[in-house]
Amino acid sequence: MSSSTSQNTWLITGASRGIGLELVRQLLESPANLVVAACRTPEKATALSGLKSSAKGSLHVIKLEVTDFDSMRAVPKALEPILGGSGLDYLVNNAGILKPDTPLTLDPEVLLETLRTNTVGPALLTQVCVPFLDKGKTKKIINITSTLGSIASADAFGPGAVASYSMSKTALNMLTYKLKLERPDLVAITLCPGWVKTDLGGEGALLEPKESIAGIIKVATSTTAADSGKFLRYNGEVVPW
Ligand code: NDP
Repeated sequence: MSSSTSQNTWLITGASRGIGLELVRQLLESPANLVVAACRTPEKATALSGLKSSAKGSLHVIKLEVTDFDSMRAVPKALEPILGGSGLDYLVNNAGILKPDTPLTLDPEVLLETLRTNTVGPALLTQVCVPFLDKGKTKKIINITSTLGSIASADAFGPGAVASYSMSKTALNMLTYKLKLERPDLVAITLCPGWVKTDLGGEGALLEPKESIAGIIKVATSTTAADSGKFLRYNGEVVPW
């Protein structure tokens, strides 16, 4: 089934669990949304496919491993039949990994894997999605970052805080700002979800996914061209670079 042009169309990576899954769930509460939920093993993503039965919006699940560049370049083939002529309104680069390390102990392979997942993946997916965003109504790119990628906040986290992950998010932030400069007609923001109870955030995190994602949706939908290039938190606060 193709989208009707009145629906808002979303592509969300890392939709199998955590923040991505809750984002899909909340968006599907409205018939106004068509969600393309990308995950690397759809056959195992039972929580995601289980959302279909109660969804008011439209759910389409596609297979996407963000470190596999061939798989990324094949995204248009998967999107075309779903979106029809509607284009893409929101690209949410959410998939991410965190492996704890420090600058002097990091494993270069872990740094490369983290950059490939958290930075290169979003960069390539953005490239392949721009033709769809060009046809979309809102033309928004939401890069899910972390305050750990804020150099201005690094002293507050202190030494010992994750190194590879933080570097990958700082680079993602710069990618977002570069996109704003390159394409002022798109809206690109880099958005921290807060510290959220997920597999990545851990049980000690401050926020339930429900609260964080409600904020993410509010920020994603309310931002305008004037906000492009901003580093924001889920509650709309500006994060210092
Ligand atoms: P989770 O670990 O709960 O979920 C990560 C998601 O990313 C899963 O769906 C996972 O898929 C997917 N993923 C990981 N690697 C790949 C890959 N190579 N290709 C495709 N999908 C992949 O993490 P969160 O939901 O907490 O994190 C989501 C985003 O939010 C991340 O970018 C993270 O950095 C960011 N964030 C999270 C915070 C938190 O407190 N939770 C704080 C700040 C930022 P699979 O199930 O197949 O492994």
